[in-house]
Order: sequence, then C-alpha cells, then structure tokens
Amino acid sequence: MSMIKIGWVGLGKMGIPMVTNLIRKGLSVCVYNRTKEKERNLLKLGATAATSLQQLSQDCDIVFTIVSDDAAVEEVYNGENGLLSHPKPGVLLVDMSTVGVQTSKKLASDCSRKNVRFFEAKVSGSVKPAEEGQLLILAGGEMQDYQKIQPLFSILGKQSIYMGEVGKASAAKICLNYFLALTFQGLAETVLFAQHLNMEKADILNLINESACGSGVTKMKSQPIINNDFSPAFALKHITKDLRLAHNEGLASPLFFPLQATFQAALQTGLGERDAISIIETLRMK
Ligand code: NAP
Repeated sequence: MSMIKIGWVGLGKMGIPMVTNLIRKGLSVCVYNRTKEKERNLLKLGATAATSLQQLSQDCDIVFTIVSDDAAVEEVYNGENGLLSHPKPGVLLVDMSTVGVQTSKKLASDCSRKNVRFFEAKVSGSVKPAEEGQLLILAGGEMQDYQKIQPLFSILGKQSIYMGEVGKASAAKICLNYFLALTFQGLAETVLFAQHLNMEKADILNLINESACGSGVTKMKSQPIINNDFSPAFALKHITKDLRLAHNEGLASPLFFPLQATFQAALQTGLGERDAISIIETLRMK
C-alpha cells in the first residue's frame, strides 16, 4: 500500500485534513487544488503537487476528488485538461463529493468509455471527524475496487460501508443530509424557543445533550451556538445544495419545503460561507 501513488483533487475544509491523515501514515500523495495557496501546508508535510489534473490521472494509481458540487466534479473530470482528458488506462478515480445520483452514474459511464475505473465514496462527518480519521464512508462501485481502496478508507474513516453499485452511496448520503438539515433546524428552533421562555442557551443545550434527544450533531453544534461562532465546518451553501439534490430525487415531504425555505433565506442574507447552524440567525428574525 505504501507504494501506491495517490492523487488528490480538492483541498477544502474536508480535503486538507483527509490528505494530512494519509501523509501521516507514510503514504505519498500528489495534490491538485484550483487555488494553489491551499496546497502550501500539505507540501510542507511531504505532499507533492501536480501541475494539472491530467498529470494526476496519468501518473497515479488512485485519484480522489472532493470538491464542492456537481458542476465542480463535472469540470474536474470532463473539463479541458481534466482527469478524463488523457487518463492512464485502468486508473481508479474515486469521487467523495456530495453530488446527485445521476451525476455519479454519469461519471461512471464517462470513465468506462475512457477505460478508467470509477468508484463513489461519500463521507458523513465534518471537519473534526475528518481530522481524527473518524469519518463514516459510504461506498459504491465494483467490489474489487472497494477491496483495493479499503485500506485507505480505514485511514480516513472509522468505518466504510459497501452499498452496492454506483449511485447507491450518493442516494444514501442525500438521505443522511436531509436528516442533518432537519436536525439543524430542530435544534435551532428549540434553542430559540427556550430563550423565549427565559432559559439560557447553555442550559437547554445541556439538557438536550443529556437527554435521549442528544446526538453527535447536537453535541457538535452546542459550543458554536453558545458562542455565536459560525465559522464554517460544513458551509451553509453546501447543505442548501444537498437539499436541492434531495428535491431532485423526489423529496417533497411536509417538512421539506419549510426547511428548504429556511436555508434559502439564510443563503440570501449572505450566510452561505458560514456554518450551516447559522440558520439560527435567520430563524431568530422570524
Ligand atoms: P469547501 O471547503 O467549500 O471546498 C471545496 C473544494 O472544491 C475546494 O478545494 C475548491 O477549490 C474545490 N472546487 C470548487 N469548485 C471547483 C471547480 N470548478 N474546479 C475545481 N475545484 C473546485 O468544501 P468542503 O467542505 O471541503 O466539502 C467538499 C465536498 O464534500 C462537498 O460536496 C460537500 O458537500 C461534501 N462534504 C462536506 C462536509 C463538511 O462537513 N464540510 C462533510 C461531508 C461532505 P478552491 O480552493 O479553488 O475554491
């Protein structure tokens, strides 16, 4: 495994800690990010930098992508000088971005036409689990590819779950993020209601976390709510994108539309780059 040449595209909030963990395990990682300055700290840790996406899919055995959205993935794979412009036959491309089911299936067929292998690996967990190698990884594609990547998944995550053919993991990730968005809004509304009843934020959050209502999410978002610190772990623009993906897949349940309206309103007030739990600011004004 230490001889395997790994390429990595996307050094955002998730990509940087994930690559850091691979390097700390002694693996050689060649990185590429659209904004070059984000590569700098990883180069100091021992990563190398590719001058183009094309170079990655020619030189590496496995190339991971974790970029913003469907359009970004499409550009990285199919853009001019993208990963699929002149790939090495048999190279394995693994997309970890949260994108639509149809996008994942399209990438699989684009890759197959170029004699390239494709695998989807969707991640649940935010920056802290990424830093701690504690992500939950939802995997989709051929079993033989899963077995090849699994040792790397075990560095990045606490568990990987093989879900079957490409598309299944994207679908599962979209379901999880619907529940995540519901949890964010439920938590934010409950804290605001408690304040209306003259309770302190810290007190209601402590009760939630000690009760059966507490979860990893409520615990993770408690200090940010108490401190009004909405520096992004999971940017609001990304969960708004995920709700759009859910709607594209047919989600039109009773809670969906008000939930989407909250996140859209927050986006319009300029909170897109803030953490998703900053919807509490939007809900406070209602
Ligand atoms: P982020 O911090 O916003 O980083 C986005 C990355 O995508 C950056 O490296 C950015 O490059 C790159 N990018 C965007 N558009 C591009 C394009 N057209 N061509 C090439 N690169 C492009 O996002 P993140 O939080 O790391 O999330 C990345 C993905 O993982 C998203 O799909 C998100 O939904 C998903 N995800 C996030 C979390 C989380 O908690 N943050 C958890 C699970 C899954 P630049 O640096 O040049 O802008």
